[in-house]
Amino acid sequence: MTAIWDLPDFDAHESVHMFDDPDSGLRAVIAVHSTHLGPAAGGTRFWHYADSGAAITDALRLSRGMSYKNAMAGLPLGGGKGVVLAPAHRRKTPEMLHAFGRAIESLGGRYVTAEDVGMSDADMVEISAETRHVAGLPVADSAAAGGDPGPFTARGVYLGIKAAARYRLGANTMAGIHVAVQGIGSVGGGVARLLAADGAKLTIADIDAAKAQALADETGAQLADLNTIMTLKADIFSPNALGAVLNRDSIDALNVSIVAGGANNQMATAGDAQRLFDRGIIYAPDYVINAGGIINVGLEYLGNATAQDVHDRIDIIPQRLTAIWDESKADKLPAAIVADRMAQRLIGRG
Ligand code: NAD
Repeated sequence: MTAIWDLPDFDAHESVHMFDDPDSGLRAVIAVHSTHLGPAAGGTRFWHYADSGAAITDALRLSRGMSYKNAMAGLPLGGGKGVVLAPAHRRKTPEMLHAFGRAIESLGGRYVTAEDVGMSDADMVEISAETRHVAGLPVADSAAAGGDPGPFTARGVYLGIKAAARYRLGANTMAGIHVAVQGIGSVGGGVARLLAADGAKLTIADIDAAKAQALADETGAQLADLNTIMTLKADIFSPNALGAVLNRDSIDALNVSIVAGGANNQMATAGDAQRLFDRGIIYAPDYVINAGGIINVGLEYLGNATAQDVHDRIDIIPQRLTAIWDESKADKLPAAIVADRMAQRLIGRG
């Protein structure tokens, strides 16, 4: 049996906590990768895993990712992740959530949670009955930080796309710049609307054909089918649906000079960063450009923040991206690798 310390994703985690509450049926992992910059923050996933080892690996991988993301967003927060192992029947009960809240509380603020896959803001409310180390709660006041992260993420991605167009194409305006948007949900739809307002030329694709048609009617975007959106001749490809869309074949087939979108974990393998770089394509590292949502939740947790504070911090995303592209050019290294290197420096592991 492999010890946790020897797992490839362990990466010097500060601590990994396993919880078992027979009364509620809760089984959970909380991984604390780094508290160098502040309390380890990262959402909790509710997921049915093939075995408990897969849950631990997922917690470790996602928790390191949160350290990097929070650091690059300039937040005074470290990185951590919660994983609740969904039972075979996949039902989540209030008792389980309360037990998970007590588990978080037992860490005394070293870990702060929020929603992730399989968790809702209503679940965060249940957890908040047991601990104050939780964010992503519903907000009544639209001027306060918090609430739906989608529009905040979309704004950061939009600003990142504009920065990339300026950097790579010398474009001071998005008017006439052709952007191919894959996925027009909460993030991609918001990005498309913001770009349309700037006069960008849009082509969109989504598996929900009716939703895509409605957005095309609203914005004047062209529609593409799911297979051609990534091979279209355009200036920018913006992935906002699934992860792992950038692989050997799809990178070869790209017909753009910029990839900038909000989807998480866009590269299928570690070698894909180099492939993009070798093709001369400017890449906006996903966890840097899509940090708007975590900035929103992070400032909500830190307290006394307004939606304007969140916007002000999101406005810094283009500067961070530009610093990455400058370092990438100077050191002849892919942007994704430069971003990881910068993040490691920020968390004191340079
Ligand atoms: P969403 O579910 O609102 O939207 C996703 C959209 O992609 C849907 O419209 C769906 O129909 C479409 N889609 C799914 N498969 C597709 C395919 N093969 N081709 C084209 N379209 C497809 O999700 P979202 O919140 O907009 O998140 C989108 C991506 O951004 C995800 O990867 C998510 O992890 C990431 N992300 C989201 C946030 C946020 O604040 N919501 C923050 C950071 C990262």
